[in-house]
Amino acid sequence: MKRVTLVAAMLVLAAPTAARTQETPTERDAARDVVQKQMGLQRSLNIDAVVAKLTGANPARDAVAARAKELMDKELIALGDDITKHPEVGFVETRSVQVLTDYLKQHDFDVTMGVGELKTAFVARYNKSTPGPNLGVILEYDALRGTKGAFHGDQHSTQGPIGIAAAIAVAEFLTRTKTPGTVVVFGTPGEEMMPPNAKTVMFDAGTFKGMDILVRSHAVNATTRPAPGFGTCCMNIDGVKYTFYGAPAHQLTAWNGRNALEAVIHLFNNIDAIRSNLRPETRIQGVITEGGAAPNVVPDKTAADFYIRYPDEVYLAQVTEMVNNAAKAAALATGTQVKIDHYGRNRDGIGVGSLDEVAFAYMKKYGATGVVPEPGKPMGYEETGSVSSNIPGVGFSAKSSNASNHTYEMEADALTDVGHSGFVVDAQAMAALLYDFATRADYRALVKKEFDTLKGLHDEYLESLRKVYVTPKVTGERVVP
Ligand SMILES: [Zn+2]
Repeated sequence: MKRVTLVAAMLVLAAPTAARTQETPTERDAARDVVQKQMGLQRSLNIDAVVAKLTGANPARDAVAARAKELMDKELIALGDDITKHPEVGFVETRSVQVLTDYLKQHDFDVTMGVGELKTAFVARYNKSTPGPNLGVILEYDALRGTKGAFHGDQHSTQGPIGIAAAIAVAEFLTRTKTPGTVVVFGTPGEEMMPPNAKTVMFDAGTFKGMDILVRSHAVNATTRPAPGFGTCCMNIDGVKYTFYGAPAHQLTAWNGRNALEAVIHLFNNIDAIRSNLRPETRIQGVITEGGAAPNVVPDKTAADFYIRYPDEVYLAQVTEMVNNAAKAAALATGTQVKIDHYGRNRDGIGVGSLDEVAFAYMKKYGATGVVPEPGKPMGYEETGSVSSNIPGVGFSAKSSNASNHTYEMEADALTDVGHSGFVVDAQAMAALLYDFATRADYRALVKKEFDTLKGLHDEYLESLRKVYVTPKVTGERVVP
């Protein structure tokens, strides 16, 4: 997915950092107290001083970062190139997973394949660790679905090599110096697809349980980091599928059937009819995925797939209920039945300043180009929010392309110097931050304090939104049972 596409828009907003957490006037009103508390938190943490202390001279840390670079230069850039040239879309990334897990096994990781129905998910644990802080690295490897076939226009092909370089470098350091700490690599499939929402499935299955930090890289065309706080890149999303069931009949005697295509058309019309009663930030878009098979047979099964979006999850729940009602009304009007499947949801994640600012400083230190000095909008380090609102973590986004995300040009850049140099920066910065987190109890405590406080503030924010979004009172006699 796409972080950078929104950077330009974000920079236009000159509001103070914390205020950008909210996207609508209603949200800003409801969040006034929370924003004050959040700004107070950021001041009290004195993150600039933390960054200066951690990123100063430190030969031991530089050696860990240098090991990550060595692994990239010797083998892992080539491995990334290989995956770029063999793209596989979500949930069938078998070849990519094979080469990544083979490499992990050669470097003392024990690999467990599959989580639930997710055949191309995996968990790889470094087998020489001693118990201590649990460091997790999230990898993705799915390609985009293109009209010419799969392609790596989002450079997920290199996330595996980057994360593996950092994981091995820090794991070797911990073992060599007998420093407590475990390193676990999580292979998370199908980032570009839902259903299923792979990271949510894995989180619900307890896959990330016990992790003290999670790190992840993602390709971008500028070196960026989010502001601290809670939010998403692209609004909270409900993914909902509506399947209508009717009865078949000959076209000329259609009264012998019930038309599921008419039902799905009614659904779209019903939604359009209520748009003016929905807050203007609402985005509802859907496609008809099944519309019948032949013109001379009344369609007895149709389906539509919707992404319903709103900046916050509280009002989104109201919107989704109205769309569900639009589907029920469509079924009622056409004598059909509707099955409603809530198959996926993306929610706010939490961006931790004490992690994001250190990561940003390390990316610059190791030579990142195209640096955007201002922080972007607050968001978590992964797209679902399931993981990033529950476990502290950080994303690394050093510039690795001259083109925007999801393009053939970004895929081409993965094989050239702009890509390779950005990937090496990500690997070094990731290794350096994991080194700091593993070796400094005071840093771990600070990160935990910031994360826990932000999580509490997010709950408080949602609570105040629940008071704001009252539903209008509709009076009159109820004539439909
Ligand atoms: Zn992506």
